[in-house]
Amino acid sequence: MTIERALELSLPYTFTPDNETIPLTEAHGRILAVPLASKVDDPGFDNSAMDGWAVRAVDVSVDGGPTSLRIVGTSQAGGGVSLPTVGSGEACRIMTGAPIPEGADAIVMVEDSELEGECVSITGIARPHYIRRRGENFTTGEEILPPGSLLTPARLALAGAMGHGEVVVLSPPTIAIIGTGDELVVPGQPLSEGQLYESNTTALAGLVRALGCEPVIFPLITDSLSQLRETLDVAVSSCDAIITSGGVSMGQWDLVRKIMEEEGEMIFWRMRIRPGGPPLFGTWSGTPLFGLPGNPVSSQVVFLTLVAPWLSSACSHDSNFGPKLYDKVRVRLLSSVRCAKGKVALQRILITTEGDELVASTPSHQGSGNLLSMVAGNGLTLLPPDVDGEAGEVIDAFWFR
Ligand code: AMP
Ligand code: MG
Repeated sequence: MTIERALELSLPYTFTPDNETIPLTEAHGRILAVPLASKVDDPGFDNSAMDGWAVRAVDVSVDGGPTSLRIVGTSQAGGGVSLPTVGSGEACRIMTGAPIPEGADAIVMVEDSELEGECVSITGIARPHYIRRRGENFTTGEEILPPGSLLTPARLALAGAMGHGEVVVLSPPTIAIIGTGDELVVPGQPLSEGQLYESNTTALAGLVRALGCEPVIFPLITDSLSQLRETLDVAVSSCDAIITSGGVSMGQWDLVRKIMEEEGEMIFWRMRIRPGGPPLFGTWSGTPLFGLPGNPVSSQVVFLTLVAPWLSSACSHDSNFGPKLYDKVRVRLLSSVRCAKGKVALQRILITTEGDELVASTPSHQGSGNLLSMVAGNGLTLLPPDVDGEAGEVIDAFWFR
């Protein structure tokens, strides 16, 4: 099963998130559900980009030689007062953001002027482009943000400037996260011999949240079929999709695979990637279920390659404006990378820049159980099967955001 084929098979199984309307001030990190069109022109009126003088350009000499103009009034941001008309030989004092008075067609910066009683002596150039024109940024009715946009601070500001006090966003789909394994202990609790601290559910919850969904972490379950069955039944009654960790290999205690084979609907098992070989995808009572391997690095890698694009598709994330965990880039290898037999090698790499190129070095600790590699690196190779990546070669990679 290639990554592409795994996606082809899983993408048709989906869910439809609900929408909700919330105040703009609470919308940071949420996903826009509908296109956002402007309620206003921006700017709403011609205004000055500078503190200075609104003048007629023909009255001011082009080389900045001094010209004396008669002051006819002031235009201040906020408006409210009636503006003078600027006639020949006249200037109106103007503040940044204030409306351009009738007759004026250019602005002189205050730095290029000197007061002379009732007059102002202009010692610089009058510039038409210091006038910001009505609607030059965007106009009423223009659709600025597509549905599926992640609401970042910059996009929230834009939504505010468009006049939206509320926005329609996706109600975060709920994703069940179920860790399995007799040996696992919740961090912070005492460890007995043969036990280890559970770490996958925390990573998976963070990844789910970064995609605008709501993780629901279930209590860890032991390798027991009945406990697993019970938990899956609860999960389908309350969640849009399920992610399990552990128990999908060939072993006798790999009960997620076993229960899916016998009681669920298994769509595929195993992918041609390393690390992360044995993930499965299927449905439990009609709810999509991803069975991720238990090895800590594998579980994250499978999430990134399989679950992340699936969730983005189910939530109709916009491909440019939606949430993203990584970009696909080309990197030059600084050292050789070992291929995997018949599988895409997803080695952890540290991507940096060298001149105008992205280069990748390979941190040590590449074992699929070694979380240090995920922390030391900021990307993954997408090295095709069976051919080692040599130093100097340029290959595809994921670059984490
Ligand atoms: P499994 O896929 O269940 O065979 O687990 C493979 C390896 O990953 C074993 O060494 C497990 O102890 C470890 N493992 C499984 N689940 C977790 C987890 N949630 N957190 C940390 N390690 C885990
Ligand atoms: Mg296990």
